[in-house]
Amino acid sequence: MRNQTLSLFRKEPMAKSSTRPQIIRTRRPSNSDGDGNHVNNQILLSLPNSEREIVFDSLEFVRLSANQVMHETGDTLKSGYFCDSGIISILSVFSDGKSVEVGLVGKEGFLGLPLIAGFRTAGTRATAQIPGAAFRVDSDKLAVLLRQCPTLERKLHQFSQIMTMETTQIAACNRLHEVEERLGRWLLMCADRVGTSSLPLTQELLAQMLGTRRSSVTVAAGILQKAGLITYTRGNVSIVNRTKLESAACECYELMQRQAKAWQRSPG
Ligand SMILES: [Zn+2]
Repeated sequence: MRNQTLSLFRKEPMAKSSTRPQIIRTRRPSNSDGDGNHVNNQILLSLPNSEREIVFDSLEFVRLSANQVMHETGDTLKSGYFCDSGIISILSVFSDGKSVEVGLVGKEGFLGLPLIAGFRTAGTRATAQIPGAAFRVDSDKLAVLLRQCPTLERKLHQFSQIMTMETTQIAACNRLHEVEERLGRWLLMCADRVGTSSLPLTQELLAQMLGTRRSSVTVAAGILQKAGLITYTRGNVSIVNRTKLESAACECYELMQRQAKAWQRSPG
């Protein structure tokens, strides 16, 4: 991992050159940790008790800072992360330094999906866009867990398929849909994952995520704000009329929601 700036929930000095997240504590099978923090990750919460006990023994609770690079394209994946809060962006990066977001991971998911297939390197960049926390698992331990815990393995494969579906849709969206439609779609996806309508997002970040110019984001945010769908201040976007924002967003949001829900209704 590069430029890693993970910090502890507890106020302890943070090593500037640290390249690995610092451990807070090993978790026990419960919906809350020793510090009173609830487990929000939906994959972990879905595990039967028999597996949860095994899995939690291998997890470390770490905080994710804003803009923290979790991994770069080509990096060796030393760990996987069950995202518990905040948002991790999956980015496609080009040789000229430009990047565009192709996926989002929140409390519903897991970062490090190549590990599930036995691959050990990252195919994309991942950064924490909205600060939060995650349960980290060492790659080697995860390989063992996947053999021991069939529900964990199935849930991670299912999430992998949902991410593939979303990435495919977002790729088409980035090519075909207008900036204000994509901004609406992206804000809704973020709000779903953090569970709040107020999002700590800068204009620069929005432009980077949408793969467009900052001036285009300013115009798009202005259109949505003027229509009474969002309020936008420096460093914060709030959704004030979600129903109308869903209508203003491109169809991609609804398509992804519908497909994910259809799969989640399936047995397993
Ligand atoms: Zn779209």
